[in-house]
Parts: sequence; C-alpha cells; structure tokens
Amino acid sequence: MKKALQEAEMAFDKDEIPVGAVVVIDNKVIARSHNLTELLNDVTAHAEMQAITSAANFLGGKYLKGCTLYVTLEPCQMCAGALYWSQISKIVFGASDEKRGYKALGTQIHPKTEVISGVLEKECAELMTSFFQKKR
Ligand SMILES: [Zn+2]
Repeated sequence: MKKALQEAEMAFDKDEIPVGAVVVIDNKVIARSHNLTELLNDVTAHAEMQAITSAANFLGGKYLKGCTLYVTLEPCQMCAGALYWSQISKIVFGASDEKRGYKALGTQIHPKTEVISGVLEKECAELMTSFFQKKR
C-alpha cells in the first residue's frame, strides 16, 4: 500500500485526483499506476484500469488470478466492474469513497475476490482531502 500511496502522490504532483494502484503477485510488484484522467483526457484512465491492463500485459494473459491489487481509494463502479472481469484474487484499498465507491453504488466484486479495506486509510484519505482543498 505504501507503493500505491507513492503513485497517488505522483498523481497529486501532476494535478490529477491522487489515486494510486499497484498489482502484486508472489510478493512481486508487476504493475504500478496512478490516475491520469486529466493528462489523457480520458475518464476511464483511473489508476486501477491501467494497473489491470499493465498486469495482464506482464502476465501475458487476461486474468489476474493470484494477484492482489492495492489501491489508495475504494474502486468506483467502472473499476469494480473491470476487476470483476479480471477475476483478481484480492483487492486491498485504503480510503472509502462514500459517494462514488462501488459499495455505495451497489456494484458487485467477483464472488471469489477477497476484499480488505481501510489499509493506511488515514494517509490515503488525507491525500484526497488536501488535493480538494488545494483546488478550492
Ligand atoms: Zn475507477
């Protein structure tokens, strides 16, 4: 999660909403990414979406079985949907997103995917808060 936070800080420095993600398999980082929606002018350029694509490229297969995604913010419904399709084994997220998180919107994660929330929650949430304070 610390590495995901580093990615989020990179997004912060680029004036992107600070969300970072890494994908790990067998204790090895195989993908790291951060939100790039502003740079790419693409609302789908969330950290998780890029992490899924780059992890699948690394593995040479579309499914992420055996992988864990660490992401600083609760995935949105788009990312939860993409993670569903990836059949990823585990999702660990930091801060909850009460408004736009997949839980609030009733999106399903794959039933075989284990979800752990609240890891480094305070740090992840503080980064978001300071980003939006800077914006105002
Ligand atoms: Zn998302």
